Amino acid sequence: MATIYRLDDSTLYLCEPCLDSHGPVPGKWRESPLDKCSVCGENDLQAQEELDEYHHHMSNLQWEEEQQDPEDFQ
Ligand SMILES: [Zn+2]
Repeated sequence: MATIYRLDDSTLYLCEPCLDSHGPVPGKWRESPLDKCSVCGENDLQAQEELDEYHHHMSNLQWEEEQQDPEDFQ
């Protein structure tokens, strides 16, 4: 598991080890945790899981809010 970086607005993604071994690559590299490394296919599963949990959490919150407001159900 590694942090994935994306080169500026290109479609080139590199994980941290590939960036180290191919670099330094000029340009702006930004973290792009939901993408896969273009070289070795590495991805940051932990970041994806955290995002899934966040979405799950948010949809639960929404559901609870709806339950707390019975006038919406008339
Ligand atoms: Zn890689």
